[in-house]
Amino acid sequence: MCHRGRARAHPANVLAFQVMASSNKVALVLSYQYPGKYALTVLAGAVESDEVGQHVALRFPRDRESLLASVRECLDAGYQVAVAWSFYSASFPAAAEELAWLRERLEGREVLCLAGGVHATAETEQTLRAGFDLVAVGEGEAVLLDLLGRMTRGEEPRTTRGWSRLVDGRMVSQGRGEGVMLDKYPPFAAKNAKFGAIEITRGCIYACRFCQTPFLNKARFRHRSVENITHWVRVMREAGKRDVRFITPTSMSYGTQDETMNLEALERMLAAVRETAGPEGRVFYGTFPSEVRPEHVTPEALALLKRYVDNDNLIIGGQSGSERILQQTHRGHDVETVVRAASLAVEWGFVPNVDFILGLPDESPEDVQATLALMRRLADLGAKVHGHTFMPLPGTPYRDAPPGSVDDETRRELDRLASQGRLYGHWKQQVQLAKGIATRRQPRR
Ligand code: SF4
Repeated sequence: MCHRGRARAHPANVLAFQVMASSNKVALVLSYQYPGKYALTVLAGAVESDEVGQHVALRFPRDRESLLASVRECLDAGYQVAVAWSFYSASFPAAAEELAWLRERLEGREVLCLAGGVHATAETEQTLRAGFDLVAVGEGEAVLLDLLGRMTRGEEPRTTRGWSRLVDGRMVSQGRGEGVMLDKYPPFAAKNAKFGAIEITRGCIYACRFCQTPFLNKARFRHRSVENITHWVRVMREAGKRDVRFITPTSMSYGTQDETMNLEALERMLAAVRETAGPEGRVFYGTFPSEVRPEHVTPEALALLKRYVDNDNLIIGGQSGSERILQQTHRGHDVETVVRAASLAVEWGFVPNVDFILGLPDESPEDVQATLALMRRLADLGAKVHGHTFMPLPGTPYRDAPPGSVDDETRRELDRLASQGRLYGHWKQQVQLAKGIATRRQPRR
């Protein structure tokens, strides 16, 4: 669910629950838009599978007009209404703007506006000052259920553990939502026909300095069990869903607690998924929306994938062609490992899509040239290159670094690669998004 130093907490909210608690009927209206909808699907799954979900009406409006209509309809029907947003740092301004738009049109009618996700967790006060009533800090499933439980019992939700709020202009924190065990919650909201990729691993032991994952979800792996994964694949199949995709910080780390691979555990899981998905099912692994670390692309791992998956491409994290930058960002692999991964992937019949980040902190012109040279080398091997621009994300060690930029000469070279069909990605738009994040950040306290 996510920030900016603009509006203050809505003054009328201070008394909101004395008014709203006259009814214990609760509606949770989710601002169900990209990119927050993925996290909201997981939260909706947690609500519908919990006892509290029997007393909570869920709504999934996909644009702001339907969001307003849903909220009004629920208020008219006598519900206490909570509205939830989930956003990343880049989409924070849009969420804050939508919140202000909604409040204005509600003309003082009371709703509890909730925010969560990695940006809200890292920049909690900023998010509250943008006008959200409560911010979930950390993982959201358990703390949302606690909050809804209080609402259904007619209790004050603002003091729920794991949520922060403003009191007389000062932030009051009620702690942080702890890391959940994935088996405890569904990966999606099947009862509301909202499906998505199955999150099989949360948290990451690697410490890449540009990445928010270890910050939000802790620097250790928590895996969903094979039995639980196949249960949800069965649910998907019964709902007529053919394609099974997965969310994990590093695809080949399933079943491990360290840098090694546990191919036995991975095979047990993929074989079970394959069988459960049935002959018409398609299994996508090591590709969107997850990726593979380059040192995990070995002949044994590729042979295993070949036996079970339907994707013809792999997404591999490369990030930079400079050894110095790879070390500085704590990536934990070198340049030749990326080249070897791409060559092996091609050998085994996968198109390697290699991710790069342009404009990483402290890059010299030589580092940039090394990255361009690696991009060309990989493209010559048959890889596609996916370009991203560095964003100084809250919660990461690079939070205060300058936003990524791409000089004219590099830009021309990237355009050339793109025109040859060898490079893709939103790196140009991300230059602007990175600037926006840097402009909005506030000094650390
Ligand atoms: S970039 Fe990938 S491997 Fe590195 S910390 Fe983030 S999730 Fe883990």
